[in-house]
Amino acid sequence: MISKYLVKSTSGVRGVIGKGLTASMFVDYGAALGTVLLRKAGAGPLVVGRDSRPSGEHLSKAFIAGAQSVGMPVVDLGIVPTPTVELAIPGLKARGGVCITASHNPSEWNALKFFNDAGEFINEKSFLALELVLASRDFKYKPHDKLGTVTGDDRWIERHIAATLKLPGVSAAVVRRRKFTVVVDAVNGAGSLALPEFVERLGAKVVRLHCEPTGLFPRAPEPTPERLSKLSEAVRRHKADLGLACDPDADRLALVDETGRPIGEELTLTLAVEQVLRTKPTTVAVNLSTSRATVDVARRLGAKVYLSRVGEANVVAEMKKRGALIGGEGNGGVIYGALHYGRDSLVGAGLVLTLLAKAGVSLSTLAGTIPRYYNTKTKAPLPEGFESRLEAFAKAFKRERPELTVDDRDGVRMDFNDGWLLIRKSNTEPIYRIVVETNDAALTRTILARVKRDFKQG
Ligand code: MG
Repeated sequence: MISKYLVKSTSGVRGVIGKGLTASMFVDYGAALGTVLLRKAGAGPLVVGRDSRPSGEHLSKAFIAGAQSVGMPVVDLGIVPTPTVELAIPGLKARGGVCITASHNPSEWNALKFFNDAGEFINEKSFLALELVLASRDFKYKPHDKLGTVTGDDRWIERHIAATLKLPGVSAAVVRRRKFTVVVDAVNGAGSLALPEFVERLGAKVVRLHCEPTGLFPRAPEPTPERLSKLSEAVRRHKADLGLACDPDADRLALVDETGRPIGEELTLTLAVEQVLRTKPTTVAVNLSTSRATVDVARRLGAKVYLSRVGEANVVAEMKKRGALIGGEGNGGVIYGALHYGRDSLVGAGLVLTLLAKAGVSLSTLAGTIPRYYNTKTKAPLPEGFESRLEAFAKAFKRERPELTVDDRDGVRMDFNDGWLLIRKSNTEPIYRIVVETNDAALTRTILARVKRDFKQG
C-alpha cells in the first residue's frame, strides 16, 4: 500500500481520482509499458480497453498518449468488459494490453490491469520490471515522425459473444427451448451491452436493468447478495426465471433465482463447474477461499480438485499446471480455458443457463441440489503479534480436531470434517481476512466469534 488512495499489487495499480490517481501517472504508465513491450521481438500493438467510469476516457487518452510517445502502436477497444480485452490481445497478436477499470471498487476509483501477450494477468516479476522502468523514468521517447499510431477497433464485443456461443457446454439450441426470461443487471458498467446481448443471442428474453454504460453505479458495484435488491424486485415483477448481475468490468457474475433470492456468488462457479464436467471430464482448480460446495460437486462428478493461492493470476497458473479446463474464484469469477484463462461473466452466464435449461427445473431447485454450506467472510484490524497468535490458534484448533489439515501457502487454511477456515493477512491494508465455512450455521458463527476473540488486540 502506498496511501489510502493509491494501492499497488500484482493485479495492477488502483486509486481514487484526483487524490491518489492522476492522468499524468497514466501517461507515465503508458510510456513505461510501451518501453517494456518495445524491447520484445515482434510488431504487435498494445491493446487498451476501459470500463464505463466517468474518469475512464481521460485516463485512457493519457495512457495511450504515453504509449505513443515511445513509439508503441495502440489498438483502442473503447468501453468493453475486461474479458473482452483478454480475448482481443491474442486475437490481434498484440504484445500486451491494459484494461482501465477499478473492477468492483466504487465510481471514484479507477485502476490499470495489465495483461501479457496471451491476454492473461501479468505475473509479479513482470509487474516489478514495469515498476522499475516507471521509477527510473527510463522511457525511450521518439521523435515526431516515429510516434505510435492509434487505431480504434469496436468489433471485439461481437467477437467475444460469438466465441462464447460456440463453447463446448454452451448451447443456444438448448437454452432457446426453455423460453427463459432473464433480468440482467450490469450496474451501468462495461457489461451493459455485452452481457444482455449475449443472453439474448443465447435464446432468452432479456429485461435490462442498469444497462446504460454511464459508469454511474446505481448500486454498490460488488454483486454480493445484499446489493441486489433492485434485481430481486425486477425478477419478481417480470416473473423472470432468473436474474444475472455483474460487476463494473463484467468479469464476475452473481445469480438471483426465480423467487428473487440471491443464491450467492459462490454458486455461480459451482454451477459452471458442474456444467463443464457434464460436458467434458477435466481437473478443476479454484482458489483457497472458494466454497467446499464447488469441491463437492466436482468430486461427485469424478474430477480432481486443486486449490491455489488467492488472486486470478495464481488460479490461472494452477489451472495450467494441473491441466484444469475449468476453475476460478468463489466471488463469481468463472475461468474456462476453452475460451481464455480469465474470469468472464459471459462464459459464466452461458454455462449456467445451459445447465439450467438441460436440468428442466427452476434455479432454486437446481441450487437445492448443491450441498449447503454456511459461509461467512469478514475482515478485522491487524493486531500486534498476528503471526504468533495465528500459530497458537492453529495449534489449539488442531488439538480439538485431530483430522485437521493445514495449508499455509496463502495465510493459513484449516480443513476439518465439518468445514474449513482461512485466516489471511491483507497485502494492501493493515487488516486480516477471515473466511469460515461449515455445514452448520451456528458452528460457523461460533468459529468466527472465536477467531475474533483470539485475535483481538489488548
Ligand atoms: Mg471485476
